[in-house]
Amino acid sequence: MKILVINAGSSSMKYQLIDMTDESVIAKGNCERIGVDGHFKHKTGDGREYETDVVMNNHTEAFVQIKNALLDENYGVIKNLSEVSAIGHRIVQGGSLFSESTIVTEDVIKGIESLIPLAPLHNAAHVQGIRACLEVFGKDVPEVVVFDTAFHSTMPQKAFMYPVPYEYYEKYAVRRYGFHGTSHRYVSQRCADLMGKDIKDLKIITCHLGNGSSITAIDGGKVVDTSMGLTPLDGIMMGTRTGALDPSVVTFIAEKEHFSPTDMDTVLNKKSGLLGISGVSSDDRDVTAAAESGNERAQLAIDILEYEILKYIGSYTAVLGGVDAIVFTAGIGENQYTHRENVCKKLAFAGVKVDEEVNKKSIRGVEGRISAPDSKVDVFVIPTNEELVIARDTMKLVQGD
Ligand code: AMP
Repeated sequence: MKILVINAGSSSMKYQLIDMTDESVIAKGNCERIGVDGHFKHKTGDGREYETDVVMNNHTEAFVQIKNALLDENYGVIKNLSEVSAIGHRIVQGGSLFSESTIVTEDVIKGIESLIPLAPLHNAAHVQGIRACLEVFGKDVPEVVVFDTAFHSTMPQKAFMYPVPYEYYEKYAVRRYGFHGTSHRYVSQRCADLMGKDIKDLKIITCHLGNGSSITAIDGGKVVDTSMGLTPLDGIMMGTRTGALDPSVVTFIAEKEHFSPTDMDTVLNKKSGLLGISGVSSDDRDVTAAAESGNERAQLAIDILEYEILKYIGSYTAVLGGVDAIVFTAGIGENQYTHRENVCKKLAFAGVKVDEEVNKKSIRGVEGRISAPDSKVDVFVIPTNEELVIARDTMKLVQGD
């Protein structure tokens, strides 16, 4: 069975075609700059690459590019579209409506649409992606939606409520939802597998650290708390996002600078974080390099990031009443080994001990344990694979499992 996984953003659409017999990626690519001018990239599992500037005015035109590439004489990987058994979509916001993956129906599309106010850019783009897919691939190919928020739906109310007047929860569904759920779900299960234990018996803290970052506390396979909130702005400092801060900082700066809510949104989401503090870049590699060559603000940005990761791991250890394993994943978590080392050194009080040599070598897709044999807590680097989770869920649902 071959499954096409789609991640539709407002101006981009990533795809992977996965062969579920061995879970290998047969082809993957990205439609970039949709509605702007258009750039298309396609790569096959056996290393054939195709890249071109091509106008894509909307998601339907982007899907036509994907379809053509998959069927292409030189760069194609299938002979007939009917070889694509099902399509799985990543959806950022499932709100309180969707606590698990589901087959797409008109009601499901309406449900995702109704959540657009909670994730304006993302959910609107996802709906465009689903509708475009129906147009290009036809109604006979089943589609499944997998939600970033779903894994977090087990959080208790005390963890997901914000202490604002209760009416805003009732009127507008203002609460913590959490994001990156598919990633946290994948790496926590993989962690249990690597430990050779049932996830039901484990307390795990997963650190998804990338351009967007979130940290999650998982008890017995169920999320009990996560750092992102109503939107992906909450939690630890990120590439360009603030993470959590005193809400008065927002009103104070807005008043001083005469900023509208939209202006403030731009400051908090696009101009802050590593970029805002360092003034160098939002990319951790650039900031780390600048810090190493003596840039003090870059060093401060790194110090804040590591301090915040440490604070979340510390507080979630208390929430869980101990921790069996800590997992690092995503661009920073999988590659920037100095952050892992510095954070874990500070956790020595909890019995965490990292093997520095193994840690250094655990980059660029290497999966494995980085804790020393005598560490009381297992520490892992696990490359995330959200597409695989989406493909697995899609297969299960279309097989009626
Ligand atoms: P992500 O959002 O998961 O793609 O992560 C992006 C972040 O990971 C950026 O801050 C990068 O600096 C950092 N990173 C470090 N090393 C790598 C790498 N080899 N590949 C991709 N991202 C990396």
